[in-house]
Amino acid sequence: YQAKIQNGGHQFFNERIINTFLRKLDVENELRWAIAKNQLTLYYQPQVSASTGHLEGMEALIRWNHPRLGSVSPGEFIPIAEETGIIMDIGKWVLKEVCAQLNSWLSASLAVPAIAVNLSARQFLVPDLASSIGDIVRQTCCDPQHIVIEITESSSMNDIESVLPILHELKSIGFQIAIDDFGKGYSALGYMKQFPIDILKIDKSFVQELTSDSKSAVITKAIIDMSHGMNLRVIAEGVETQEQLKYLQAMNCDIVQGYFIDRPMPSEQLELRYLKGVWSSCQNGSAN
Ligand code: C2E
Ligand code: MG
Ligand code: MG
Ligand code: MG
Repeated sequence: YQAKIQNGGHQFFNERIINTFLRKLDVENELRWAIAKNQLTLYYQPQVSASTGHLEGMEALIRWNHPRLGSVSPGEFIPIAEETGIIMDIGKWVLKEVCAQLNSWLSASLAVPAIAVNLSARQFLVPDLASSIGDIVRQTCCDPQHIVIEITESSSMNDIESVLPILHELKSIGFQIAIDDFGKGYSALGYMKQFPIDILKIDKSFVQELTSDSKSAVITKAIIDMSHGMNLRVIAEGVETQEQLKYLQAMNCDIVQGYFIDRPMPSEQLELRYLKGVWSSCQNGSAN
């Protein structure tokens, strides 16, 4: 009360801190119920060949719609889920959901590419991560080849000693591995050769500066060439313009993902727009 009289600005500053704190508490408390109350869904964003435009994969991205809070972005709630450990249950939910979706598409004879799932650094701190997600996939009778595990570069570099054996285990179960947000963290290139990875995803900050900053263009080209030299597929994230796409095509980038191609969308929409029945597409092919 005194602070308010003496210094209005100071009081306002305190209120902001308190509001941020209260919002975080609110999000945290509600997040604990999000799975049980069916508030989580997955959206899927297409990943297409830079040269042909054909669907090569898709990334599962979590969405949370809360009756009072509205839609809360993963950028806000994933860090809170990581801090509190709620990410463990969310991670399992995501994987089960993706396996169920894969099964449903495959049993409808749709030609579906691999689905990428994001894993948090925190999930890699549990030594039985590989066997626990291997169990989920086995229980749902999913082929691990159809799943790409995305791990961010910063989290994989953080604790290489514990992450490396888990990556090898995931790989031996049959999952594909992608390094996400590559170039954003402290790239320790020396470790790249030890990692059993299949795909490298160039961070969107490079893609977004591709046409305005020649250094970003040089780095992007170097990442693409290095990846090809190591037999990795490269995905450019955050492709928002035709011009960026043209640069990436000229640089021989394999796969592109971003708003220019398409936004993340519900599974039904992706199915309608991108997935063709194996049988019907054969029939169409022979008819034409
Ligand atoms: P990420 O894995 O790097 O995912 C890419 C993010 O970029 C997504 O944000 C996607 O919607 C957004 N994006 C796609 N195309 C464009 C574009 O052209 N321009 C721009 N500016 N952005 C684009 P989203 O869905 O908000 O997710 C943010 C982050 O939250 C993800 O970054 C990932 O780190 C995390 N996340 C999302 N879903 C999950 C999940 O199921 N589990 C975990 N552990 N993390 C998740
Ligand atoms: Mg990702
Ligand atoms: Mg990314
Ligand atoms: Mg990210």
